[in-house]
Amino acid sequence: MLNIKGLSTSYGSIKAIKEIDLDVPQGSIVSLIGANGAGKTTTMKSLVGLLKPQSGLVKFLDQEIRGLAPHKIVSLGISLVPEGRNILSGMTVLENLEMGAYQRKDPDVQGDLKKVFQRFPILEERRQQLGGTLSGGQQQMLAIGRALMARPKLLLLDEPSMGLAPLVVSDIFRVIQEINAEGTTILLVEQNVRQALKIANYAYVLETGKIVLHGTAEEVAKNPRVMEAYLGGA
Ligand code: ATP
Repeated sequence: MLNIKGLSTSYGSIKAIKEIDLDVPQGSIVSLIGANGAGKTTTMKSLVGLLKPQSGLVKFLDQEIRGLAPHKIVSLGISLVPEGRNILSGMTVLENLEMGAYQRKDPDVQGDLKKVFQRFPILEERRQQLGGTLSGGQQQMLAIGRALMARPKLLLLDEPSMGLAPLVVSDIFRVIQEINAEGTTILLVEQNVRQALKIANYAYVLETGKIVLHGTAEEVAKNPRVMEAYLGGA
């Protein structure tokens, strides 16, 4: 569904990602793991047009999308749930969700709102509450709900479990699996490597801007280097 070849993005003279190759097959969950500063967020932003890569190819459903504007990429069916969630704290839950549908031309926003509320009943209860008053886990759910309002075919999740209590983290991973089971393909960036490998089909390991390892999630989880560096040697 998504095929990345030789993707490189720099900040001035700093090469943050270097010649990345990565494939996300339709229907899969693919995890991208790596330490702080490895280039995971840069990869995600490069895919959705928030950063302009210097070179490489990004094919989505057989269309070249590198260099397209972010709103165009959303309308083709890719939504990003950004690191740190970016909830509009002075707007209500409902307004935040409606923002997610602003690109849509079809009229069934109400139907999709209903689906988001079915998935996250707490958001319906708090629909008139300001986004900034939600707990961290609820804000993450709101960020995912907002992305779903654009009806993505491919959902990019950047560190969805960051800063959340363990029970809430389990909830978030369960929701990711449900969304995938209902037909949305997922590219997941995580520092919670153990959980990310548990739910993924494939995984890529990024170190200082380069893919150093990839394979099925099972293969990657068994790799001694991954066990040592990311799974506490377990
Ligand atoms: P984290 O989990 O900490 O967000 P990451 O794997 O997502 O890490 P990136 O944020 O993509 O890593 O950063 C990759 C590299 O690019 C790092 O060396 C970082 O210092 C650098 N970098 C990131 N953003 C900028 C920026 N706006 N200007 C300059 N350098 C940046």
